[in-house]
Amino acid sequence: MVKYQGKGVYGAVAVGKVSVFKRQDVQVKRFKIDHVEGEIVRLAAAKKKAIEQLQDIYDKALKEVGEANAQIFEIHMMMIEDDDYNDAIVEMINGQSVNAEYAVAVTADNFAEMFASMDDSYMQARAADIRDISNRIIACMTDSEGNHSVSDEKVIICADDLAPSETVSLDKDKVLAFVTAHGSSNSHTAILARNMNIAAIIGVGEEFLGRIKEGDMAVADGYTGEFFLNPDAVTLAAYEKKQKEEVEKKALLQNLKGKENVTQDGRKINIYANIGSVANIGEVLLNDAGGIGLFRSEFLYLENNDYPTEEEQFKVYKRVLESMATKKVIIRTLDIGADKQADYFNLEKEENPALGLRAIRLCLTRPEIFKTQLRALYRASVYGRLGIMFPMITSVSELEEILALCEQVKSELDTDNIEYSDSIELGIMIETPAAAIISDKLAPMVDFFSVGTNDLTQYTLACDRQNPQIERFCDTHHEAIFRLIEMSVENAHRHGAWIGICGELAADISLTETFLRMGIDELSVSPSFVLKVRDKVRKIDLSK
Ligand code: PEP
Ligand code: MG
Repeated sequence: MVKYQGKGVYGAVAVGKVSVFKRQDVQVKRFKIDHVEGEIVRLAAAKKKAIEQLQDIYDKALKEVGEANAQIFEIHMMMIEDDDYNDAIVEMINGQSVNAEYAVAVTADNFAEMFASMDDSYMQARAADIRDISNRIIACMTDSEGNHSVSDEKVIICADDLAPSETVSLDKDKVLAFVTAHGSSNSHTAILARNMNIAAIIGVGEEFLGRIKEGDMAVADGYTGEFFLNPDAVTLAAYEKKQKEEVEKKALLQNLKGKENVTQDGRKINIYANIGSVANIGEVLLNDAGGIGLFRSEFLYLENNDYPTEEEQFKVYKRVLESMATKKVIIRTLDIGADKQADYFNLEKEENPALGLRAIRLCLTRPEIFKTQLRALYRASVYGRLGIMFPMITSVSELEEILALCEQVKSELDTDNIEYSDSIELGIMIETPAAAIISDKLAPMVDFFSVGTNDLTQYTLACDRQNPQIERFCDTHHEAIFRLIEMSVENAHRHGAWIGICGELAADISLTETFLRMGIDELSVSPSFVLKVRDKVRKIDLSK
């Protein structure tokens, strides 16, 4: 067995035989021509044929991946007609009296290089598109089609890279996965693979191409980006199990997608998803979550070697909000410290870090870091429905200090004439016993509560959540925790605030009915649990 690590661009698991993508490599030679006009006529005929082919591919893509994704082929048709591109080719034919194929190939290289050298990763990925259309025109001139035919068996397609048109032209019903040596996650190939619901891994590196043989067994894990060539029995069995679970999940998805989170007797709740990065949004949408109930923004800090700037943060928050469109997005402010450490914060070593300078305590101690994040959040708020949530609250005075800082940020943005939404919801996490006990005082100050059962359990039961030795003392179903949650629900509702749960307990379906009976309004869980919880909610009858 050999394992390769790439980047998963569509989360699905595939187990099967590999098929090496064959492309008829057209060798373009340069030769002198006598009749320049004749060459330009040949070029025009090839372009016409290429456009006809692209129209067919567009029609296929329209059916398989929808209009938005099929658009790339309309763009390809337009690129073929692009004046700059055509002028460059014709100038070369005229100026150097060379054959049209050669002029197209050289122009393609020049344009692709120009795109590849741009700073913007989206523009860089356009280099593949220019090569794709140029190869098509050349193939039309040389009458080589170069289409890869797939055997009757479903296979894992392995290639150096795949052009968008090659991806769509493959018979989707015969492809288990796409695995490429190169490629970027912004490429249209990656986008198309995602929309074709086919496991896809890119960038596993050049070496794998030299090793794979037609018909080798392989496993492609589009979630983790792992590719196992000739897997051993243990790996194979583990992945066959994972695949079976996926099939069950897909069936559940088909059944429950688009359905309401409503009990038999008509009680509705929101089921949102927890994420740690923009990369998780695909999963959130795929699993039909009603919103994002917890975006752990600290990962943005943990993934960096230095404080993320306001601009960097703004871009991330904007992207999450835009992607979720009209759905609610609750972004939790920095919860660093304790088990989540970043060197550049230069935090002193503490005896009891879980009881130390973490989360909101750190933000209030170093307000410049906090204000940078708040500015980025407020600026991004105009791009969607934002909720801002503060972690590790224990007192009214902390919350007063936070709200004062929010007002300060707003007035600074006003001075700078920078827009922000006036309907941002502000909320706090209930993850310390203190917060639950004084929830009657905290509730009137906020729009919502979200119970962090992971920390609430740790702090209520005095059980370090990191310590496996005491796991048996750490009863997540302890009555004390339920009493604190119940108390928080009553106080939230009495003061017009809504309340959700975003700790791991939210996904525990043995408790869903208990939470609904308490009056919980929202459960926020890992994306892959959304439909399981929906399923559970729909089976509950609170009237019984
Ligand atoms: C929690 O404490 O329950 C929670 C959701 O926050 P985290 O797990 O990130 O501490
Ligand atoms: Mg917590």
